[in-house]
Formats: sequence, C-alpha cells, structure tokens
Amino acid sequence: MSSAEVVPLAGVRIAVVGGGVFGCTAALDLDLAGAIVDLYEAAPTILDRASRRNLMRLHRGYHYPRSVNTARLARDVAPGFERFYPTATSYDHDHYYAIAAEGSRTSVDDFVQFCDDLGLPYEPATPDFLRHEALDATFLVDEAYIDYERLKGVIERRLARSNVAVKTGVRATPLVMDTYDYVVLAGYAATNSFLSSASLPVPRRRLDICEVCVVRCPPLVGRSVVVLDGPFVSLVPLPRTDLSLLYHVDKSVHRRYDDLAAVEKDRLARLLGGTIRAEPESTNFEAMRRGAEEFVIGAQHIEYLASAFELRSVLADSFDTDARPTEVTWVGPNVLMLFSGKISTCVAGATCVREMLIQDLRAPSTMAPLHSQRIATH
Ligand SMILES: Cc1cc2nc3c(=O)[nH]c(=O)nc-3n(C[C@H](O)[C@H](O)[C@H](O)COP(=O)(O)OP(=O)(O)OC[C@H]3O[C@@H](n4cnc5c(N)ncnc54)[C@H](O)[C@@H]3O)c2cc1C
Repeated sequence: MSSAEVVPLAGVRIAVVGGGVFGCTAALDLDLAGAIVDLYEAAPTILDRASRRNLMRLHRGYHYPRSVNTARLARDVAPGFERFYPTATSYDHDHYYAIAAEGSRTSVDDFVQFCDDLGLPYEPATPDFLRHEALDATFLVDEAYIDYERLKGVIERRLARSNVAVKTGVRATPLVMDTYDYVVLAGYAATNSFLSSASLPVPRRRLDICEVCVVRCPPLVGRSVVVLDGPFVSLVPLPRTDLSLLYHVDKSVHRRYDDLAAVEKDRLARLLGGTIRAEPESTNFEAMRRGAEEFVIGAQHIEYLASAFELRSVLADSFDTDARPTEVTWVGPNVLMLFSGKISTCVAGATCVREMLIQDLRAPSTMAPLHSQRIATH
C-alpha cells in the first residue's frame, strides 16, 4: 500500500475477531491503512486453530476440477499470498495428483481438460511409490505447501512491529459492536456462535470434525500425493521434516453437523483445539492407513505419531459443488464477516475487507446489511 492510500482508514477503530491467518492478515492490512486495530483471539495464542490444523496446501486450483471458480481463484491469488508472505511457502517436494481408477467423480480427460483450460501445468508421471493398477493416471504438478512455523513467525514479527493490539485469550462478545466503529468477524467455524449471540443472521454451514494424522512414511519423504476425486487419501509433507500429514476424505471425518450448537453439545467437541495429541481419545488412523494402502506401496508401514483435530466449516451445499469461496459480507450495520475459503485467499480477502470499509466510510447508506462480496478474479 502506498503512503497516499494510508489516509482513508486513519483513526477508524476496528475490532478484528479471530487470530487465524485470515484475521491476522486483515489486521495487518488495516493497520497499514491507518486504522486503529484490536485483534481478538480466544485461544492463548494466535494461529492455533484451523490455520494450523489443516493440510497446508497452497492451492493453485488442481484440487477443484468440479469447482472452476474455486480453482481459478486459487490459481490467481496464490502469487499475491507468496508476495505478502514470501518466506512461508515450501517447494521442497514432488507433488502428484492421481486419478483413482474406480469411484472418481473426475475422469482423466476431465482433469486434463480442466488443467488446460486454466493453464495449470502438469506432466504425466509414474512415481515408484504408487500402485498404478489402482489409478487411471498420475500427474506431477506445480503446487506448494505452506510452512506453518515460518508463516507464524513472520506474522508474529509483523504484528509486533505494527500498531495492532493483539488480545490473546480474550473471546470477543457482541459488545465490541458498540465499542468500535467496525467489527471484522474472522472466527471461521466459531463465527456463527458470535452471530447468534448478537442476534445477527446466521449463515448455513456444514461443519465436520476432521482428524489429520502426523505420520512417518519413508516412501513419501520429499513427495506428496492427492488421490482425486472421491473418498480417497492424501499424504502431504510437513515442510523441513521427514514427516507427512495423512488425510482421508471419508475416514478423517469423525462427525458431520449442520449446526454449531449441535457441535458444542457433542462430547466429541472435546477433541478440538488443545495440543496436537500423540494419544487422542479417539483416532481413525487405522482406517486412514488402510485407505492409503489402496494406492501407496508400503503404506502398511506408515508410523503414527499424533493427531490434530479441527472443525471444518464449508458452505452447506458444498458436497455437490465442491465450492470453497471466500466471501466478505455485511452482516450488521458495522459488522463485516470474512468467511474463509482456501488459505491462499487471505491476502485478497484482507484487501476486500479494506476496500469495503473504505467504501462504507465514503457512502454508508449504499451498503445494506447482507451485501456480500464473493472474492473472484477474472
Ligand atoms: C482438515 C482440514 C484441511 C484443510 N486443508 C487445507 C489446505 O490444505 N489448504 C487450504 O488452503 N485450506 C485448508 N483448509 C481450510 C483452512 O484451514 C481454513 O480455511 C483456514 O485455516 C481458516 O482460517 P481462519 O483464519 O479463517 O480460521 P482459524 O485459523 O480457525 O482462525 C479463527 C480464529 O478465531 C478465533 N475465534 C473465534 N471466535 C472468536 C471470538 N468470539 N473471539 C476471539 N477469537 C475468536 C478462534 O479461536 C480461531 O483461532 C483445511 C481445513 C481443514 C479443517
């Protein structure tokens, strides 16, 4: 942002609710734009929920052949993420997308056509760690991973140098709506809890308690694979280690809900947050490992180390569409909701938040509640 652009939000008091990668990025951006920003994080540290407990792909689009908008957005915003967080991505691996021979909703022809249409580079490949008899094709692709430790480090350093007041261990309540000019809600799965206690409209979401296993799988060192497009496995690298993350589209999901209140009542919710456990009270590791055996040679020897659990929050109808949009929506007169799709969109999301706030300051009456901006590129 140039110094000329700093003026529009000067002196504007903003509460950002949620210290994940979306809230932190928005807080940094708004601070640069001159706003007085308080960043609320309910957990003892920032970046310890979904921003840590995920598969850390810096999506470029390959994963979403059934949602071209999601794929195009991922492709277009990834460079902006890398410019904003230049040290936070890792390319230290060969990354493959494989199409299952049976049960895939995307065929090889569909995938190739989709990559060609979006200009996503790929190379047919036959890496020695995959059971090619169970696959119709495998492609080496150009996709990076996010290095969580480096991302956290750079965000913490930038926050420390900024004027953002970081309030960890503080759960923001609807009272913030009265004490700030604006509130930016970036609470991911917990956002609906804030909205319902503020008597604001609550969007429909699908919520899944997901388990990601930290494993040692020697054939996968320096390599990663995603099997498309159905109830299949992914094994992805944990940057700068010899470890991988194991995920299975079906087996990783412990329970599925359509309402946050139902999650909060369920004893399984105790799995969420806290430390990444070596001995969780429940794990689907064995089922995931068997899922890996279908496609990965030597998967019977995958060594289990720990599990991370997170509540995934996606659009209620995303089963069919596979869409993972990032949206910025006016949900109250001074409340913007930043609903996060893929992590790579956090910089574009922060820009959208800033622009919508500036626009509202200039012409408040034009912004009706529930006006929404789905972030898109052309
Ligand atoms: C299993 C799994 C795998 C995934 N894999 C990928 C992937 O490979 N690549 C990708 O791009 N995306 C992936 N995602 C999605 C990605 O993790 C999320 O979109 C992203 O991390 C959300 O970031 P966030 O900042 O919105 O949420 P979070 O990181 O969850 O941050 C929200 C924060 O808000 C805080 N909070 C909530 N309410 C309040 C309140 N009232 N007051 C104060 N604090 C509050 C929470 O404590 C939390 O820390 C995956 C998600 C899951 C669950």
